[in-house]
Amino acid sequence: MSTLEIKGLVASVAGKQILNGIDLTVRSGEVHAVMGPNGAGKSTLSAVVMGKPGYEVHAGQVLLDGVDLLGMPTWQRAQAGMHLVMQYPSEVPGVDLTEMLAEAYSARGRSTDGLAASVAAEAERIHFPSALLDRSLNVDLSGGEKKRNETLQLALLQPKFAILDELDSGLDIDALRDCSRRVEAATHDSQLGVLAITHYNRLLEELHPDHVHILVKGRIVASGGPDLADQLERDGYEAFTGDEVADEPTSSGSYDDLFAL
Ligand code: ADP
Ligand code: MG
Repeated sequence: MSTLEIKGLVASVAGKQILNGIDLTVRSGEVHAVMGPNGAGKSTLSAVVMGKPGYEVHAGQVLLDGVDLLGMPTWQRAQAGMHLVMQYPSEVPGVDLTEMLAEAYSARGRSTDGLAASVAAEAERIHFPSALLDRSLNVDLSGGEKKRNETLQLALLQPKFAILDELDSGLDIDALRDCSRRVEAATHDSQLGVLAITHYNRLLEELHPDHVHILVKGRIVASGGPDLADQLERDGYEAFTGDEVADEPTSSGSYDDLFAL
């Protein structure tokens, strides 16, 4: 049993404070959904927890079984058991999936015997076309293929905790179902703890959250059970802030956001 504790996390990017004190505890096998409008700080939270360069932490801790991750480089956080499925998975020309997984296994002291067979079996399970296994990582894959590929990596690496940053963005219904069911299975089979970031209820219909948190303007403004997601669907974010914040255009300045859904 492991615990991921985010305590009083305050962070900024490009001189602008985005996270204004986040407290969140996830235990092995639990699924926590973090929902919030565009620009609320959801991706920033995942970036800060994983140690993406360019983010400044002003206060707080991110503890994995009591050990603060914030002083560690990203690769050490991954070795310690953290995993991020990015909102927009990176393309890595020249590196193929099995090579990358072999490196990751070795870095974790795991044998790579039978890795190719495990990759093939996992690809079949998640409906990732085997013809694409030899491609450079994510290069020229569709949005859905990229997320299936990322989910395949998650399943094989068996981290303690996974952050899914809008796993649902860019996915059709079939891909969404396959990916979210695979993650859900990992929460039972290997007691994976999940922080599922989304602004749609759709993902949660497959990936049943134990807890739902609503993040607005860098703060968790409400926490509850799965019914909170239903309430959000019904009433919108205004019900939680008193402001008109839902459907704000994204202000991240990323062209990728235009293609998010
Ligand atoms: P969400 O994922 O909830 O849509 P983000 O965490 O991506 O929101 O963004 C939160 C805020 O931080 C937005 O106002 C966005 O413009 C800003 N932001 C995020 N990343 C950067 C960056 N690298 N440089 C400047 N501003 C950023
Ligand atoms: Mg985001």
